Amino acid sequence: MRHFPASATKLFYNARIITMDPSQPTAEAMAVWEDRILAVGKAEEVFPWASRKTQRINLEGQVIVPGYNDSHMHLLYWGLGMMGADLAAARSVDEMICLGREFADSNPNREWIIGRGWNDENFPGKALPTKEDLDRVSLHRPVVFTRACGHVCVVNSKALELAGIDASTPNPPGGHIDRTGGGEPTGILRENAITLVGRLIPDPTVSDLKEILSKATHAAAALGLTTVQTNDLDGAGTLSMRLEAYYKLAAARELPIRVVLQAAMPTPDDLTAYLEARRCYPVLGSNPGSHLTLGPLKLYADGSLGARTAALSEPYADAPDTSGMLIYTQEELDELVSLAAEANLQVAVHAIGDKALDIVLTSYERAKRPMPGWSARPRVVHCQIATRQQLERMAALGCVADIQPIFVPTDLHFAEDRIGADRGVYTYAWKTMASLGIHTAGGSDCPVESCNPLWGLHAAITRQDHSGNPPGGWHPEECLTPTEALALFTTGSAYAAQEEAVKGSLSPGKLADFVALPKDPTQTPPQELLDMQVAATYVGGRRVWPSVEE
Ligand SMILES: [Zn+2]
Repeated sequence: MRHFPASATKLFYNARIITMDPSQPTAEAMAVWEDRILAVGKAEEVFPWASRKTQRINLEGQVIVPGYNDSHMHLLYWGLGMMGADLAAARSVDEMICLGREFADSNPNREWIIGRGWNDENFPGKALPTKEDLDRVSLHRPVVFTRACGHVCVVNSKALELAGIDASTPNPPGGHIDRTGGGEPTGILRENAITLVGRLIPDPTVSDLKEILSKATHAAAALGLTTVQTNDLDGAGTLSMRLEAYYKLAAARELPIRVVLQAAMPTPDDLTAYLEARRCYPVLGSNPGSHLTLGPLKLYADGSLGARTAALSEPYADAPDTSGMLIYTQEELDELVSLAAEANLQVAVHAIGDKALDIVLTSYERAKRPMPGWSARPRVVHCQIATRQQLERMAALGCVADIQPIFVPTDLHFAEDRIGADRGVYTYAWKTMASLGIHTAGGSDCPVESCNPLWGLHAAITRQDHSGNPPGGWHPEECLTPTEALALFTTGSAYAAQEEAVKGSLSPGKLADFVALPKDPTQTPPQELLDMQVAATYVGGRRVWPSVEE
């Protein structure tokens, strides 16, 4: 229990505050002491907390909401993308090549030409690019362009040559090399096959990482994010460098927002290294008000729907020869989940297809049985295709669903091609999840999609793309109310990370993390959310955007 002094360090007033605290949903003023909320309520209730020394900040009628919290993203890859070619605007393979060439020409000193964000769904005839296409970017420098989903990439001949991939190379476990009729690699690599090339790309140094992470955290602050739960640890190989970069930024107070790291540790050895790192590193992460926390184990059970690598219990409607791919057997996943449970570490597993969800829930059920004291809330990241019976299993387990509403504007255009209308009914079933008592948390999976939380709100409320299609929304019975949508990115994400005591709502004793907006996002026509700009972002009562307050 912290003891508060008699007077506030800061007083924010003349605001319309949406607290997300059911005991007092709206307020006019907020008193802050250091990084915590001292009082929130009507002006006459809050002003007595101010003394002569208190700094008074007139918010000029702005709307205040709790700071947005993205429950699952890849901040480092977003930041890395800012350093590579942005291919998201390409509407054909030729346009993608032009963007790639421009980038290569303007970065003559980089050996590897990296890009990301292309999507064959946007190309005429939905044609996948090939190594011959990428050879037009460069014949001499290796080129790697990652699809928007992050689960597929296309590389040029030079990259294949450096990786030693040819007709005789077998598919690695959990991965696939696309081939021509003659067995030659086409340049498309899926899932674990990506690492055959990815491992050759020189790792950024600690100082590169600091620069990338600093850029990305400031960009997140500009969108109103005050916490990101980000999967930036990826295996034991890069663990110590990435932790060092983050710890240096945190220790120098150079992280504008709070970061909860999710650790993708795909093997028992990787996981052991992460558990060891949690013991060795300074205990910045044990303080709930800290800017840096070492969070859950993150695992991948399958791939993506777009790339047809999500594991389905029945074949794809538009590719009856495949039902996707499971990354682990049940026994392999059980082993990792129980190792984490023994260490009382939270686990978050990526599962998009219903077959993947099945093995994830089975692993959670098996880990809970021998360890009923495992207090960490198990999480399912994405949880896209889930039968009613699976959702009931999740509710019984106390499982959190980490959903990404922003997937819907993209996926609604192809999801039913992939899975057919029957399975579409129980896809992205957010309202059903809520009605069953499943805790849901909002995220973006950025850079797969934009991490602008207002776009996430729009998608959760409308289930439409940005042009308003389909009219009325895709499976509109699963649309959320504006307040439910805001809860995903505030109270929901805080609950998922087991941080609801300090984050999620603007209540006395919690962190003073909040966002100033020009209008109330719960009262604005959803279409306007797409253009709404955040006026200011505050973390621990300190403004971190538009400029960082000293
Ligand atoms: Zn992800």
